[in-house]
Amino acid sequence: MKHVALVVPLFNEEENIKVLIAAIKAVFEKLPYTYNVILVDDGSRDRSLQVVQEIALQDSTINYISFSRNFGHQNALKAGLDHADADCVISLDADMQHPPSMIPEMLQKWEEGFDVVYTVRKNMDGLSPMKKRSSSAFYQLLNWLSEVDLEVGTPDFRLIGRNVLEVLRSLNEYDLFYRGLVKWVGFKQIALEYEENMRFAGKSKYTFKKMFRLALQGITSFSIRPLYAAAYLGFFSTIASLLYFPYAAYSYFFGHVINGWTSVIVTVAFFGGLQLTILGIIGIYLGKLFMQAKGRPLYIVKETNLYGRK
Ligand code: UDP
Ligand code: MG
Repeated sequence: MKHVALVVPLFNEEENIKVLIAAIKAVFEKLPYTYNVILVDDGSRDRSLQVVQEIALQDSTINYISFSRNFGHQNALKAGLDHADADCVISLDADMQHPPSMIPEMLQKWEEGFDVVYTVRKNMDGLSPMKKRSSSAFYQLLNWLSEVDLEVGTPDFRLIGRNVLEVLRSLNEYDLFYRGLVKWVGFKQIALEYEENMRFAGKSKYTFKKMFRLALQGITSFSIRPLYAAAYLGFFSTIASLLYFPYAAYSYFFGHVINGWTSVIVTVAFFGGLQLTILGIIGIYLGKLFMQAKGRPLYIVKETNLYGRK
C-alpha cells in the first residue's frame, strides 16, 4: 500500500489540533493508503506540544517534531519534508482553513500522474480586508518582479510526489519560500480550487510583520530585478540631475541663489530617500549572502518521536 505523510506546521494551535486530527482520520478511513501525520511544533508557547504528545502516545500514526524556538512557518514545513518518508507528502495548515476533505481529490490527481497538486483559493471569505488586498498586491508584484508565475492565493496546501520531495529536500537555501520553489522545480503540476474556511479557533499567527517578511523573502529569493531597478533608477536620476545644472548656473549668475532653498531641500530629501531605499535593497541581498554563507541549520529540533523513521 502506498504511504502518505501529512505535514502540519503548528504555532500556538492547541485548540485546533484534535479537530484537525479527527478530520484527517475520518478522511483516511475511507482511503486505501497508510499514512502518518507529522506535526511540526514551531516553538509554540501554549499547550500545543503537550496536546500533541498525549495524542501521539496512543496513536502511532501521529508523529511530532518540536523546535527549540519559533523558526517560522516555512522552516517548519522544511522540517516536515526532511522527515517525511512517504510516496507523497501533503502539507496543510493546522487551523482547518485548508479542508482535509480535499485530500481524496488531491490523491486522485497524483494517481493520475501529476507530481504536484497545488491548490488555489476560490473565495476570500476567511481573510480580513487588509489581508485580501495585501495578498493580491503581493502576488502581482512577485509575478512582475520574478521569473516564476504564481496564481493569486496559492497557499502551502499541496501534495508533492516523492520525486519532487527529494528535490525540495536537497535545497538548503536560507529564506525558504516554498510557493515559489515548488513552481520553480517544474514537473507535472495541476491546480485544484478549494473553498477556504474561517480559522477554527485562535487568531492568525501571521502578524503583519511576518507577512511583510514573507513577501520580501518571496520577492528577494526569486528575483534580482530589484537590484537592476535600483541601478536604472540611479542612472536616470543622474541624467535628470544633469538637466538641473543649466538652471543652477543661470541662478548663480543672475542672482536667484537664495530663492533656490526650496528646490535644494526637495532634491536633497528626495535623493536622500532614494539612496537609502536602494542601499536597503542591496543590503537585503547582501544579508542573504551573509546568512547563507554561515550555513546555519534552518531549524533546531528539541524533541521528536520520529527517531525510528527518516
Ligand atoms: N505557523 C507556524 N509558525 C509561525 C506562524 C504560523 O508554524 O511562525 C503555522 C500556523 O500554526 C498555521 C500555519 O502556519 O498552521 C498558517 O498560519 P496562520 O493560519 O496563522 O496564517 P494565515 O492562515 O492567517 O495566513
Ligand atoms: Mg490560517
